Amino acid sequence: MTRRQAIEAGSAAAAAMVASGALAQGPAPVEKGQPMPEGVTLPSAPPPSPRPGSVGFAIIGLGDYALKQIMPRFAQSQRCHIAALVSGNPQKLAQVGEAYGVPVSARYSYENFAEIAANEGVEAVYIILPTGLHAEWAERAFAAGKHVMCEKPMALSAAECSAMIAASERANRKLMIGYRCHFEPYNRTAMELAASGKLGDLRLIRTEHSYRLGPDTPATNWRIARAQTGGGPLEDYGIYGLQAALYLSGEMPERLSASAFRPEGDPRFAEVFAHVAVQMHFPSGAVAQVVTSYDSAGINMVEARGTEGALRMHPATGYLGNTLVLETGRERRTLEPGDSEVQFGAMLDHLAAAIREGTPIITPGEMGLRDLRLMEAIYASAASGRSVALNPDGTMRG
Ligand code: NAD
Repeated sequence: MTRRQAIEAGSAAAAAMVASGALAQGPAPVEKGQPMPEGVTLPSAPPPSPRPGSVGFAIIGLGDYALKQIMPRFAQSQRCHIAALVSGNPQKLAQVGEAYGVPVSARYSYENFAEIAANEGVEAVYIILPTGLHAEWAERAFAAGKHVMCEKPMALSAAECSAMIAASERANRKLMIGYRCHFEPYNRTAMELAASGKLGDLRLIRTEHSYRLGPDTPATNWRIARAQTGGGPLEDYGIYGLQAALYLSGEMPERLSASAFRPEGDPRFAEVFAHVAVQMHFPSGAVAQVVTSYDSAGINMVEARGTEGALRMHPATGYLGNTLVLETGRERRTLEPGDSEVQFGAMLDHLAAAIREGTPIITPGEMGLRDLRLMEAIYASAASGRSVALNPDGTMRG
């Protein structure tokens, strides 16, 4: 996909940016082949041989999340192993390949990726690239006959998500989105509690996911380059709050209103928003407020309040150390349902089960599509200053 097509694909965010007076597209965003991220610890010894029946994954994109979170957690998966790597930086590829015991013959560049079709040891591809590249590489992975795990957000637009789902169907291969919180014990317990009626009727959900971006520009950080990221903090971090609002309410909103803000003269926000605030109304009468920012002190928080009690999670959707407090009447209980870290291995094994036994995927491409539809509605509301009515599938009504 060209840069122009990527911008057009992210048209909802782009329309809202134009409405906010954003500058014209700046210099080209960062390229493939980035150096080894700071603070990566590579394994001191290659992993043991995979168990019989284990699903071999190719990792595409050896960046921060791949090297610090996902790749080390394959050791906790029961049914998956790293079988191949794809990178635009030959030095990093060699170093990471040695550390993870990936043979030279299973180390690919973006240019020779199509050769992976002949590698029977690779059954799935895990896409951990900047968002603007997800659709293109998912389609290439399906064309090579592989299953796909794709990082969040699924893509830049609902149109790209639909194309990815169609490619997965044509190839008869699985498509799963790396929405790890669905496999995380604190979030799973919160879902169960919210659905159990223990909180009474759910009335108010509040989520906040914010951090302060460094002194970057769109030319040095893809997260603030519109062609690679969309509108900014909502796709990157606020998506966790949007997801939580949906999995705790168990409903789709019937109406939403949103505002998005971009300060003038700050190079970080030449192409993306600094803050996005969303209010969603659910058919049950519950309301969710989802707030996200790239320019305020860090917070990762979810609260759900019903007529009889409340859940408080702070941090709520982290890699490790999430917390959950249940308040009912005069009681305040701190729950400890398990180690947050198991989310990674459980997520990988979920795709392995879908591949081997045909079990349904709980975070399929359709969920990623739903979320992109909602984001398009959010940007449409922010651009128009009006609330937007929604169909049950998240598309805008009328
Ligand atoms: P990153 O910038 O650290 O890594 C991106 C990698 O992609 C780099 O190695 C880079 O060289 C490579 N790349 C290939 N083509 C590129 C191009 N044209 N421009 C820029 N880089 C290119 O990013 P990250 O933080 O690892 O994020 C990657 C993906 O993982 C994103 O989709 C992000 O949303 C997702 N992510 C998910 C979580 C989570 O908790 N699920 C957390 C962090 C990131």
